[in-house]
Amino acid sequence: MRLLIIEDEPDLLDSLAEAMREDGYAVDEATDGEDGLSKALYSNYDAIVLDVMLPGMSGFTVLEKLRLKKKTPVLVLTARSATPDRVRGLDAGADDYLPKPYELPELLARIRALIRRTAGNASTVIRIQDVSIDFAAHTVTKAGTAILLTARELALVEYLAQHRGRIITREQLYEHLFDENDDTLSNLLDVHVSHLRKKLGHEFITTRRGLGYVIE
Ligand code: CA
Repeated sequence: MRLLIIEDEPDLLDSLAEAMREDGYAVDEATDGEDGLSKALYSNYDAIVLDVMLPGMSGFTVLEKLRLKKKTPVLVLTARSATPDRVRGLDAGADDYLPKPYELPELLARIRALIRRTAGNASTVIRIQDVSIDFAAHTVTKAGTAILLTARELALVEYLAQHRGRIITREQLYEHLFDENDDTLSNLLDVHVSHLRKKLGHEFITTRRGLGYVIE
């Protein structure tokens, strides 16, 4: 999953981005509204964390402009917990909001819930055949046995499982698993899929020639 964080306070942005990368997300960053909006319009993020108080274009304006074009899930960080701000954020098209100061585990849980709801999944655990994927704990078991996956393998299997039944193109996988600074070679995707098949069963991920990959 790939996130965009729009936050002008460098320390906050760094700590947030680091925590999210540790949680397995590909993370892009923007420090003002203009840059944030152009990234949000250009790339297809799984979710956006948007600060309200930004220099130049405010978070509300970013959200209003984004909503003219895209439905990307947005969690708004508001410094003020006053009701008018929350109401304005929700009316502008925010999917969730969190007043500052927030607890990091709560923010991460809300992001997971946002992504889950968007994909139409109610539970944090998805079971496919004898494979069980826990999106909160970031663990995968097969027939009850824990399977050790690399961060990339986990991100790949989580994305395909979250969108199971749908063919996901290579372009979509690149867009959602790698951040803007990632220059990983394209053939690595096949390597990750091949490793996942060895660990989870050869039939677990189906290749649709010329189209992409799918978990049925
Ligand atoms: Ca701010």
